[in-house]
Amino acid sequence: MSARLQAVRGMNDVLPEAAEVRLWLEGVVARWFARYGYRQIRTPLLEHTGLFRRAIGEATDIVEKEMYTFTDALNDESLTLRPEATASAVRAAIEHSLLHDGPKRLWYEGPMYRHERPQKGRYREFYQFGAEALGYEGPDVDAELIVMCAALWKELGLEGIRLELNTIGSTEERAAYRQDLVKHFAAHESRLDADARRRLHSNPLRILDSKNPMVQEVVATAPAMQQYLGEATLAHFEGLQRLLRTSGVAFQLNFRLVRGLDYYNLTVFEWISDRLGAQGTVCGGGRYDGLFAQLGGKPAPGVGFAAGVERLVALLAESGRTPARRPADVYLVHQGPGTLEFAFAVGEELRAAGLAAVLHAGGGNFKAQMKKADASGAALAVIVGETELAADAVAVKPLRDDRPQRQVPRAGLAAQLNALLKGN
Ligand code: ATP
Ligand code: MG
Repeated sequence: MSARLQAVRGMNDVLPEAAEVRLWLEGVVARWFARYGYRQIRTPLLEHTGLFRRAIGEATDIVEKEMYTFTDALNDESLTLRPEATASAVRAAIEHSLLHDGPKRLWYEGPMYRHERPQKGRYREFYQFGAEALGYEGPDVDAELIVMCAALWKELGLEGIRLELNTIGSTEERAAYRQDLVKHFAAHESRLDADARRRLHSNPLRILDSKNPMVQEVVATAPAMQQYLGEATLAHFEGLQRLLRTSGVAFQLNFRLVRGLDYYNLTVFEWISDRLGAQGTVCGGGRYDGLFAQLGGKPAPGVGFAAGVERLVALLAESGRTPARRPADVYLVHQGPGTLEFAFAVGEELRAAGLAAVLHAGGGNFKAQMKKADASGAALAVIVGETELAADAVAVKPLRDDRPQRQVPRAGLAAQLNALLKGN
């Protein structure tokens, strides 16, 4: 016997039970985006490796160690499974001149790939949905993106997701800050861990969100970004906070929040739950006004967020907010010569009328079929025996209550079943 194959580590099968929840969530999310005027964009799972190197930045966790990169031997080019979708969305916006007639609000949903250590809430294939508001200076759309997240949590019945907010200024402001930060960390280098030391010259801002207590002590006495922020940055940040206050969205300022990717400027934010253990961030976002130019496009501002589907689903489950499974309306049982063909046709008629009808397949006597009907969870059994066949009718037996079985003519059957499903 040959060895049993398993899924790639960190990549999950979503089995029907869970897939139904995901499908439901996707529907909620699609309708929610539509209400805010965001239109969907779908980009390939594979992109040229250079896109992510340029967009996300060399000195980031993703580019340094998390990308699934391989050479397409057929045309000798380096390709990467997308680790996130902002770079792809901006690439597509440039490639198709999407902003030629004005700014655009876009959204996406789909799998992302990162070679991380798999653990609860952290996988190698995971799903995100996210928004990108392209061509807007803000802070109006920055606030809109945050307010719409708050509305989604509310619609989903999720409580206790808190919002952390920061501004990381302009490129120039960050450069000045970065210099002083490196000076400070270099003076305390002996108390930095290997990770922080490695980042000292490549990505010193990331040291600010180190979880190591020893490093955090050095961080505590580091200069704060706030002193480096100019008038325009502060006005943008103030404007954002004002809109959030007006909308009744609570937030905590977190001056250590810098986010992992290079392309951010000004607004950065995260939505965090305390109910998910170590992987508590369900959504993160920020502004990326330099990204268009960085990818060779005409300069244009952008801002967006990405939410982790698996973490949201875990939170939904934890809060008892996943929808109940919706079984079929009808289970079709048939017994006797000619009844399979009849049941087949009746099934199609019912489906055409919008009912969910499962046809019994695989044979078995009447009793065994009725058992299956019951186990299926369907509300009604539609039974075709030789008597029914002769009368061009079916027998209908409610399975979830003790209303009596009755014969119903085939003509007008769907309407009758609908009435029965409504409890009449
Ligand atoms: P983390 O700090 O948890 O690694 P991140 O900053 O790398 O998160 P982003 O790139 O901002 O994450 O992605 C946005 C969201 O996508 C995260 O807040 C999280 O909910 C989800 N996410 C990111 N990486 C993973 C992963 N490996 N598995 C599952 N969900 C993930
Ligand atoms: Mg990460």
